[in-house]
Amino acid sequence: MKSSSGNYVDLHVHSSYSDGSFTPGEVLDRARAWNLKAISITDHDTVEGTLEALQLASSNTIEVIPGIEFSTTYNNYKVHILAYFFDPLYPPLQDALETLRKDRYQRANRIVNTLNDMHIDISFEEVEECSGKGCIGRPHIAALLTDKGITRNVTEAFEMYIGDGKAAFYPKKTLSIEKVLNLTHEAGGIAVLAHPGKIGDDDLASRLCEMDLNGLEAFYPGHTRAQTEKFIQLAADKNIAVTGGSDCHGMMKGEPILGLFKVDAIYLDLLKKKHREIKRNYLK
Ligand code: AMP
Ligand code: FE
Ligand code: FE
Ligand code: ZN
Repeated sequence: MKSSSGNYVDLHVHSSYSDGSFTPGEVLDRARAWNLKAISITDHDTVEGTLEALQLASSNTIEVIPGIEFSTTYNNYKVHILAYFFDPLYPPLQDALETLRKDRYQRANRIVNTLNDMHIDISFEEVEECSGKGCIGRPHIAALLTDKGITRNVTEAFEMYIGDGKAAFYPKKTLSIEKVLNLTHEAGGIAVLAHPGKIGDDDLASRLCEMDLNGLEAFYPGHTRAQTEKFIQLAADKNIAVTGGSDCHGMMKGEPILGLFKVDAIYLDLLKKKHREIKRNYLK
């Protein structure tokens, strides 16, 4: 996995604009050091990192694909959708992301207030500082609780306070899958089901393929070999693309996996081909 021939890509990387620890520039530097051919910054619910990377890419040898990772729910399952090749400045997309950003802000405030009621001494300003320019989320609160020695690590912060269903948990607003698919296609992009093996029901991927999905993220560090093969077969059956990426969050989740888990560049070529194909269909 470690050899770098310049024939590998990573289509799922987070930056400091969501819950990754590397700035887009640092992601690009590391990707170049690993000799990756292309990357996509797919931050949660924001295109700021992707926009910065696209700007930097012009002075960089590495190809940058516009990307984002949307959170949606389907039948009580958490379903993440990756979008690529869309116009990040498409106004209805920007409006939708602004709504999500405001909701995350209010939600983080509620979480902090609840933690304060539990006599945990953190402030919203500290959480904001921790998220930097980023789209505020639970990982920033978990990092702060850990930095202040209130929890031993991020996992403990989720387990004790802010994980799903815990005392200081509040759900965040999400877009419906239909809305995400429509926005992606209207903005000229292609929509891929992220880490289908992580959803918790492998057969759900098959049902989701009946929607307007254009690809499956079969290559994913958390997938078993059997899952990867199953999703490659499913994509072939449904005539949709296969993608992959590391889901690197920088140092937020231990050692950075960027460059260690990578995907053959052929899949990016095939994704581009699929993109051209669907664009023709949408223009009809
Ligand atoms: P949010 O979008 O604010 O709800 O935060 C969700 C993010 O928190 C996910 O993308 C994960 O990166 C992280 N996360 C969720 N559950 C856990 C957990 N139990 N331990 C560590 N990180 C988690
Ligand atoms: Fe994340
Ligand atoms: Fe995800
Ligand atoms: Zn991700």
